[in-house]
Amino acid sequence: MEFKLLGRTGERIPVIGMGTYALGNATGDKRREEIAALQRGIDLGIKFIDTAEVYGHGRSEALVGQAIANRRDEVFLATKVSPEHFGYDDVIQSCEASIQRLGVKFVDLYQLHWPSSRIPIQQTMRAMEELVATGKTRYVGVSNFSVEQTMEAQESLPRSELVSNQVRYSLTSRSIETDLLPYCDKEKLTVIAYSPLDTGSIPKDRIPKDMLEKYEMTAAQLMLNWVTYPEPVVTIPKAGQISHVEENATSVDIRISDKDYKILSRRFE
Ligand code: NAP
Repeated sequence: MEFKLLGRTGERIPVIGMGTYALGNATGDKRREEIAALQRGIDLGIKFIDTAEVYGHGRSEALVGQAIANRRDEVFLATKVSPEHFGYDDVIQSCEASIQRLGVKFVDLYQLHWPSSRIPIQQTMRAMEELVATGKTRYVGVSNFSVEQTMEAQESLPRSELVSNQVRYSLTSRSIETDLLPYCDKEKLTVIAYSPLDTGSIPKDRIPKDMLEKYEMTAAQLMLNWVTYPEPVVTIPKAGQISHVEENATSVDIRISDKDYKILSRRFE
């Protein structure tokens, strides 16, 4: 597995992780497969799991907790607090509740899920700094923040550093290329690309067949290879099926050429 630095921290995280939106709602065989899929991903080196308190009202975190039981040390674990919990006390309580559902002592990355227009970011970030100080999270990140909001978030953290911004990015969702991606590159902030497979609607017909043959990749693998090509970007495809996890885990084993990267970029512009 290829690794990239998380922000300016010196910590290395896998370029391919695992998203968990909509996992944890099923029961029986389907639930067992979801757990097995996450465990297979860990076995294959995609040891970065992203979840959120809001996913299935905590059911995704509980499923992740089951999957990583006895394997906590192997995984870089990220979760998110929802904007309705951005008040100081609520942030602290939300983090504690997530930690309990996950069955861990701390998370590695705690992220603000969306910006809030109601609660001043300074108040929320004071709580995030308290969580760092008390060892409940190692790092602080944001999600769905514009450049201006990211700058304000950075300025609201006097004692720690903002390490990442999780945003939508894929071959067909390119809006961050205008200003957020260059900004994160300059500021050494990690971009965690979500919905890298367009939530499963993979645009197979538009991906050049000769390129898939040349690299012996599936369309999904090529999308993941493409999305993580820019320096600051890592990604978290969600896969409830083991075969999908296996495919995603090998998607950056080889890198497409600079020329092919540009051809693909232009085709989907
Ligand atoms: P996604 O990862 O783009 O797509 C997931 C879909 O792709 C699932 O239906 C999955 O199927 C399918 N899939 C996975 N691997 C595949 C493969 N190799 N070949 C074919 N299909 C494949 O969409 P997403 O779930 O929206 O995004 C990923 C993660 O990002 C989420 O789970 C979540 O953790 C995070 N996210 C964050 C935000 C935010 O606001 N911060 C918003 C959206 C998502 P199976 O499940 O059947 O395997």
